[in-house]
Amino acid sequence: MTPTWAVSLHDVAPSTWEDCETLLELVRPYGVPVTLLVTPHLHAGVRADADPAFAQALRGRLARGDEPVLHGYYHLDDATPPRSTRDWVRRRLLTAGEGEFAAITAQEAERRAVLGRAMLRGIGVEVEGFVPPAWQIAIDAFDAVARAGFRYVTTRDWLYPLPSGNPVHAPSLVYSTRSAWRRAASHWWNLRRLRSLALAPRVRVALHPPEARYRHVREAWRRMMDALAARRDGVLETRWLPRAGPPDAATRSANDEAAGTNPRPRRIA
Ligand SMILES: [Zn+2]
Repeated sequence: MTPTWAVSLHDVAPSTWEDCETLLELVRPYGVPVTLLVTPHLHAGVRADADPAFAQALRGRLARGDEPVLHGYYHLDDATPPRSTRDWVRRRLLTAGEGEFAAITAQEAERRAVLGRAMLRGIGVEVEGFVPPAWQIAIDAFDAVARAGFRYVTTRDWLYPLPSGNPVHAPSLVYSTRSAWRRAASHWWNLRRLRSLALAPRVRVALHPPEARYRHVREAWRRMMDALAARRDGVLETRWLPRAGPPDAATRSANDEAAGTNPRPRRIA
């Protein structure tokens, strides 16, 4: 079976749309449909349903084969402040306070997931998948999203079919652009990861709007996407979700290969 790759674009919102368009243009030559991670009320700025031009542009992308998923509601971690050093490192240092679903209550998680989906439905965009901001989700919040009727949840390296099903290993390449040293570190991390994933059946490219503003980051993505496209078929990540019934042999063996990494979201206290 030919190995595959997929592209996801994070933090899609009216305020980031210009940068999103630059990145979509970067992907266009490869002919790969893109999973658009839409945050309905990103950083409590302009809402997705308050910008008709954005809504129209989004619907235009979907009409051409892209796929929307819900990516939190505000994106910001506004839960009670971290109480331990470990929690602080995870929620403030590693994710810059962007993990909205990292420490949220189950009730609030379900409320925001339902609200977000309804807002997008209001502009003609139907979502079935959920990606927690910063890929962090408390286990209770995970269950709440499942209760809200989403078909799958995605983290950096896994797709979780809902309400239950074998997780699918789909590791992502990802940049951090928050500072010069993070960009440099990301560069080496991605090159190493790309090499180590040479035989992986699935690889994802995870793009973030700020990357549009750095020419050397765009060039690095172009080189990595050239390498992926040379050996893999470009698909939407939902193609990797198992159909109803038990997982097929390919899914089982891919998951066995990935054994050792955690196949369930970590319980976050
Ligand atoms: Zn995000």
